[in-house]
Formats: sequence, C-alpha cells, structure tokens
Amino acid sequence: MSFSTGLKCRECGTTYPADARYSCDFCFGPLEVEYDLEAARGVVTRASIEAGPNSIWRYGALLPDPGVEPVDLGAGWTPLRRATRLAEVLGVRELWLKDDTRNPTGSFKDRVVSVALSSARRLGFTTAACASTGNLATSVAAHAAAIGWPSVTIIPSDLEKSKIAMAAIFGGTVLGVEGNYDDVNRLCIELVAEHEDWAFANINLRPYYAEGSKTLAFEIAEQLGWRTPDQVVVPVASGSQLTKVAKGFREFIELGLVDGAAPTLFGAQASGCSPIATAFADGVDVVTPQRPNTIARSLAIGNPADGPYVLDELRARGGDCGSVPDEEILECIGLLARTEGIFAETAGGVTIASLRQLVERGSIDRDKSIVAIISGHGLKTLDAVVDSATVSSTISPSLADAEAALRFHQLVAAS
Ligand SMILES: *Cc1c(COP(=O)(O)O)cnc(C)c1O
Ligand SMILES: [Zn+2]
Repeated sequence: MSFSTGLKCRECGTTYPADARYSCDFCFGPLEVEYDLEAARGVVTRASIEAGPNSIWRYGALLPDPGVEPVDLGAGWTPLRRATRLAEVLGVRELWLKDDTRNPTGSFKDRVVSVALSSARRLGFTTAACASTGNLATSVAAHAAAIGWPSVTIIPSDLEKSKIAMAAIFGGTVLGVEGNYDDVNRLCIELVAEHEDWAFANINLRPYYAEGSKTLAFEIAEQLGWRTPDQVVVPVASGSQLTKVAKGFREFIELGLVDGAAPTLFGAQASGCSPIATAFADGVDVVTPQRPNTIARSLAIGNPADGPYVLDELRARGGDCGSVPDEEILECIGLLARTEGIFAETAGGVTIASLRQLVERGSIDRDKSIVAIISGHGLKTLDAVVDSATVSSTISPSLADAEAALRFHQLVAAS
C-alpha cells in the first residue's frame, strides 16, 4: 500500500487529489506527490522494505499508488559498488558507483517510467507517450509493449542511431522531429492539449514520473547499510533526477530509516549544455536557456524544467555543478571502463569527468564518502567510442604474427 495522499503545488502549497493533473490551477506551479509520513513512521521499516521485491517496488509505500499492480519490467535495485581503483586515480578516499546501466532498457529512465505508467494505468489512460532525448523513449516504448499499449515517443530526428533503434524496436510510433529536445518538448506540450487520453510520462504524468527518481536515494542509503553518504554526484538534464534524489534522502531521514545527515548534492553537465552550471557559477536564480551542442545527447536539455529547484538543492548544503567538455566526457568513459569494468554512455562520462573536476576544484571533499550515479549503458552511445575503441592490431592467422603483435603490445618480452 502507498502512503501518498495526493498532489501539492510546489509554489503555493495548494493540494489536489492524485488525479491526472500536473500544474496548479492558481499559480501554474508544478505539482508534486505528497505522503502522510506521520502515518508511515513505524509502519514502513527497514524490515518491511527488506522483505519487498528486488526492484523499485520494494519502496512502493513511498511511491504513488500503482493501482492493482505496477507496470514493472524490473527497474531498480541496481548494484552500488565500491570503486577502489577509480578512487585511487581521482585521489579520493571512499567512492561508490551506483550502476544504473543495469536496468531493463539500460538507463535510469526505467525507474521513472515504471512509476509514471503505473499511475497512468490507474488513472485510465490507454496510450503511453513522451518527449525524449532517447532513453525515455526507449523505456516508455518497452513498458508500453509489455502491457500491450500503443506508444508515441517523440525525439530529435538526429539522435544516435543506436538510440533510435532501441526506441523503435518495441513497435510503437517514433516521431523524429527536425529540431532539438527543447523543440520536441514544446511540440509535446501542444499535443498534450489535443490528446487528453495520452499519458506523456514527463509532461502530464510528470508529478508521478518524477517520484521514480527517489528510489536512487532509497537504494543508495539501504545499500550503504542504512546510512546516508556525505556527497552524491548526479547527472542533470531537466533536473528532475537531482531534485527527487534530494527528496528521497529527506523522506528516509524524516522516517528515521537511516543514520546520517542529508548528503551534499553535486550536479554534472556537459559544457555544450550547461545552463544550470552556468547559473550556479554566476550566483543567479534564473536559468538562461542554452542551445545544446554536445555528444552527451541524453543530457542535452537547454531549457531545464526543474532548473531553479536544482539550484536550490545545490546551494542548500554547499554543493556545486560540474561543466565538462566533450573530450573529457570521452576520456572519462574510458577511464571508468578501464578502472572499474563499467561501460557507460556519454552521461556517465559527464558524471565521472564532473566528479574529477569538482574534486580538483576543492568543492568535493576527498576525505568524505562520495556516490556517483552512472545513469546509462555504453551500448546506447556506441557511436561515441567506435573510432577510438578499436582492435589493438590486425594480424594474419599465423603464430608468428600473433607473437610479434604481443611483443609490440608488451604482453611478452621482446626476444
Ligand atoms: C534522463 C537522463 C538523466 C537525467 O535526466 P533529468 O531530466 O535531469 O531527470 C541522466 N542520465 C541519463 C542517461 C538520462 O537518460
Ligand atoms: Zn500553486
């Protein structure tokens, strides 16, 4: 059972029932799901959570009501791994990687889609839709396929081929828009008004969708043995993930489920699309939109919906936001792979490069614990690395050639 009580405006506090709405009638502020944490206290316990399934739904009591049963491909409960080799390279004492490459469709988006489509089905919608930079489209199409729903996913037409294929393979309708994500999003807001029975996961279902990201915080705390980490590095596109990771830690603390204080949060952006890092560095509250130009397509949102809330969360506890060039993103995809055996998409490169930048800048404390969220699998952005990750040597099928190549690569001593 869920302890959610309904929706509440983030700006003016007006409350609404848990129905199909996403902005406030009075001030147009975004709505957020509310819970009766008083009632949950003592009922939602470490033991009750540990008895749940190995998916995000072990935290179902602190997620929106999914109706009869959740729409579930098994999102979440991904590994949290101690990264000693990467920590040594970066010169930090205690580093953990939340490996969200290991989700059903290879990105953290499965968490938010499982929650959004569960609420959509409870509310009587029959078609799944979204505006996407790629990963969301894939996840929406897969979850819709699994429940036999039609899907309409809308993406920039020039996305990576691998991302388009991953969205299209599930048989839904994929619309490629000649424009960037911000154009896609504008179009989808118009479509929402025309098609009231379509559940756009990240638009008219956004209050429910966003809650899925809290499970990252819940899992990190539980996997650390019911304690909070000191510092968390989060990739930022619209900013939904970062703001809800913060909410997740707050709810666990309020329920008395974890030891430790709320962690300091750090954002990670690509320099080619860093409107939030820029606003943070300038010390302003208004996020000025930017035209994205980066290989980190999954984070390429130039006009982030949750920008001001991200700035609040970063400033609340002395955080900061990284901004890293494409060369460093590629370099850090390789660094993560070579040191820890994890192949991440470009967003993962942004997270690791930002972590390194923020440690060097002194914003991240080397001696306190750090968790970095690796949010998507490298197979999604294979195009980014195919030219640099190649065979070491091409040889004829002869022993002499093989031995010569092994000597060249210093795997055997030169004779
Ligand atoms: C969507 C996405 C994010 C974060 O997106 P927000 O809009 O900020 O919630 C991070 N990493 C990957 C790989 C994504 O696809
Ligand atoms: Zn309001």
